[in-house]
Amino acid sequence: CGIVGVLGDHEVAPILVEALRRLEYRGYDSAGIATVNNGQLDRRRAVGKLVNLSDLLVHDPLPGKSGIGHTRWATHGAPTTGNAHPHRAGRVAVVHNGIIENYKELRAELAGHGIRPETETDTETVALLCQHHLDQGKTPVDAAVATIDALKGAFALVFLFDGEADLLIAARKGSPLAIGHGDGEMYVGSDAIALAPLTNRITYLEEGDRAVVTRAGAEIRDQAGKLANREIREIRLES
Ligand code: GLU
Repeated sequence: CGIVGVLGDHEVAPILVEALRRLEYRGYDSAGIATVNNGQLDRRRAVGKLVNLSDLLVHDPLPGKSGIGHTRWATHGAPTTGNAHPHRAGRVAVVHNGIIENYKELRAELAGHGIRPETETDTETVALLCQHHLDQGKTPVDAAVATIDALKGAFALVFLFDGEADLLIAARKGSPLAIGHGDGEMYVGSDAIALAPLTNRITYLEEGDRAVVTRAGAEIRDQAGKLANREIREIRLES
């Protein structure tokens, strides 16, 4: 139900959890984060309140300066640790708000390549499809874009890749998503409130937009793949 992403200059796990805390008002049943540390993708997930995730992180820390986080409001699959986001398939981790309407068709297609889901969620299909494109030799950006193009439904999505500590790919269709601009850091969030302690310089993605985000900035394209000029707004929020 809430999404955050950070390409930062500091340990990112506490920053992700704090940003997720600011999205608690939306409601959720489980939470999780993934980071890339020394090139390695890893994740931690917990059912229930965010404090369960932060407790887990005390015992089993997740280092890294690049990461994504999610609070889940289950629509497909029970609220279990295994169904919590981020979902991972091979080299890719994905957080998702919304519903992938054609996930059954996509699952059937993937089954034809011998690829089977391990969870009950619609979201895992996104990760599996993206990894399938990576297996076929596509770059992370091309694999993510091909995946996004195949999805029907309502979604806000952020992709994080093993071996890619300076890359997030974000997409918006039917669920809001904002990009935050920092000082050599970049952020993604469901809304500006999530990012308020980090930056007040916000770009709202428009319907169908996808963004390739690095610490140098965000390259945003529209649904047709054309470069899109989206303004950076300086917003004021009571905190
Ligand atoms: N449909 C996804 C799931 O059930 C995402 C739900 C959400 O928006 O949190 O896992």
